[in-house]
Amino acid sequence: MIQLIRGFKDILPGEVELWQKIEQEARSLFENFGFREIRIPIMEKTELFKRSIGEDTDIVEKEMYTFADRGGDMVTLRPEATASIVRAYIQHKLYAPDPVQRLFMIGPMFRRERPQKGRYRQFYQIDAEIFGVASPLADAQLIFMLVTLLGRLQAKNVEAHVNSLGCPACRPGFRDALQGMLAHVSDKLCEDCRRRRDRNPLRVLDCKVPGCREALTGAPSIIDYLCGDCRRDFDELQAALTALGVSYIVDKRLVRGLDYYTRATFEIQTGELGAQSAVAGGGRYDRLVKELGGPDLPATGFAIGFDRLAEIVGLQAGDYQPRPDVFIAALGSRSRPLAFEWCCRLGREGVRVEMEFGEKSLKSLMKSADRLKADHVLMIGDQELEKQAAVLRNMQTKEQTAVPFDRVVDTLKTASRRPS
Ligand code: ATP
Ligand code: MG
Repeated sequence: MIQLIRGFKDILPGEVELWQKIEQEARSLFENFGFREIRIPIMEKTELFKRSIGEDTDIVEKEMYTFADRGGDMVTLRPEATASIVRAYIQHKLYAPDPVQRLFMIGPMFRRERPQKGRYRQFYQIDAEIFGVASPLADAQLIFMLVTLLGRLQAKNVEAHVNSLGCPACRPGFRDALQGMLAHVSDKLCEDCRRRRDRNPLRVLDCKVPGCREALTGAPSIIDYLCGDCRRDFDELQAALTALGVSYIVDKRLVRGLDYYTRATFEIQTGELGAQSAVAGGGRYDRLVKELGGPDLPATGFAIGFDRLAEIVGLQAGDYQPRPDVFIAALGSRSRPLAFEWCCRLGREGVRVEMEFGEKSLKSLMKSADRLKADHVLMIGDQELEKQAAVLRNMQTKEQTAVPFDRVVDTLKTASRRPS
């Protein structure tokens, strides 16, 4: 038997209802905040990710699914969404009518990591981006939206972490200080970090290796190096969050795994998933649009790990599983054509209906109705054909009524009306 690829997974009925519920909540909330959906390809030119995410990142160094297609072009299964959304924003000149665009997408991402709880090779993200707004209020809006979504989904044990990564004016000072400090602990760092120490020292702060984390306890804080503008923006972000009643932690270690971030950066962390503590992450990337060949416009955004979110929400998939309004129990071959006709017409009329097409005993049909948790069972056999009336059983009250054949569809439409 051929099994699925390691690190990939199926989302089966029974679990998928929870995913649908999460997706619905995200969509409706984002739309309330003026976001519009964008759908981007699953594969892009490798160059796009190399240039945007950065060569020294875990993603580009060791996680991307990159291969030459049959024409020899280097392509990559998308490991994240921002690069593609920025590409689309530039390519289709979405900035031309109005540089301010709020976009979201939901879909799979691919990274070849070591599979474990909360870490897969195909995983899903819910991604939101705001283009064209330099104000830290955009960052505050994103964090507020995230926290609101998590609240609605009753996510357990979550905490918002925020930091500022500064800008090209203030980051060099911090970089020097960090490099100086790293020189002293060099022997405690992993091989990757020793290499990154010179080329991209901020990456070291993001390393997951316990030895590196320990070596960095005395690392300088970027917040002490922020320039006036970055300081003012970071204060404004925090003031906005406080005014909105969002509790957060200033986390000077938070740098995030991608190179393109500037100023505000944030993460939602949970204590529920062991080492995989980040449920969502994001921040500002004011230089990326220009670096990828677009106009000099600021942007900020986040990505939620859908799989991790699904594991920590307080909702039960069972609460969202569809149950049939009616199960049609047709006894004997004579009644089946009419029962089948009702089945099709009821479905068309918006009634959730199921029936079995083969020959079954009443006992086995009632068992099926119970297993499906049908609200009603509609019974038709030889006797009912005689009387031209079916029997409708309310499975909760056990009450049975005779329904004339020509009233079946209308009666069930009324009986199954769901509150909209
Ligand atoms: P981590 O630190 O856990 O590796 P990351 O910084 O690589 O996360 P991002 O690139 O910021 O993650 O992606 C945003 C979110 O996507 C993460 O917060 C996480 O919830 C989710 N995510 C990232 N990688 C995976 C994965 N391999 N499997 C499942 N979810 C993932
Ligand atoms: Mg990662």
